[in-house]
Amino acid sequence: MTLVGALTGVKMVFAHDTEAALIGVAALVNTTGRDGEKLPDVAALDAFLDAQRWTGRREHDLAELEAVRALRPRLRRLWEVDEDTLVEIVNGLLRESDALPQLVRHDVRSYHLHATPADAPLATRMAVEAAMAFVDVVRGGELGRLRFCEASDCDDVVIDLTKNRSKRFCDAGCGNRVAVNAYRARKAATRR
Ligand SMILES: [Zn+2]
Ligand SMILES: [Zn+2]
Repeated sequence: MTLVGALTGVKMVFAHDTEAALIGVAALVNTTGRDGEKLPDVAALDAFLDAQRWTGRREHDLAELEAVRALRPRLRRLWEVDEDTLVEIVNGLLRESDALPQLVRHDVRSYHLHATPADAPLATRMAVEAAMAFVDVVRGGELGRLRFCEASDCDDVVIDLTKNRSKRFCDAGCGNRVAVNAYRARKAATRR
C-alpha cells in the first residue's frame, strides 16, 4: 500500500511492492531509537505516512497512533530472530489479520499485492504489508539483507536492497557521520 514506486525500471532484488514495503517497515521501526520518539503525536504519524505515501483509511486519532507504535517492537524482532522464529511471527501476523492476498491496482500504480481491504485499521494494514514482504524475503533466502546500522552508537535496522549487498548504515546519516569522524581522527593522528 505504500506508493514508493520510483525504483521501478531498475533491476530489483524483490518485486517493486515488496521493496517499497521493506523500506517502509525499516522506516517505521526506526521511528524509535537513537534520536528518541519520532512519532510523538498524530501529526507526526500523518507526516510519516505521507512521506511513505501510504494510502487507505486513516483515523488520525490517538488509538491509531498507539496501535502503530505498538507494532514497532514486533516488527523490529524480524531483524533480531532466527529464520524459524521469524516465520512464526510472520505467519502469526497474517493469521490474526485474516490476510487475503489480492492483486489490486489503484492510483497510477501497476498491479501489486494487498492482503487487507483498504478500510482495515491502519496498524493492521501495516502489519500485513510487512508480513507479506517478509514472506518474499524468506522465500528468496534473503535474510542476510536484514542488518543493523554499523555505526557504533546506532542500532537502527537496515534493509539492504543493493545488488552487491553493500549497504552498511541506516538512512539517518550515520554513513556520513562515521566517514567524517574517521576523517577527523586521521587528521588528528597526522598532527600528533
Ligand atoms: Zn496499493
Ligand atoms: Zn544509523
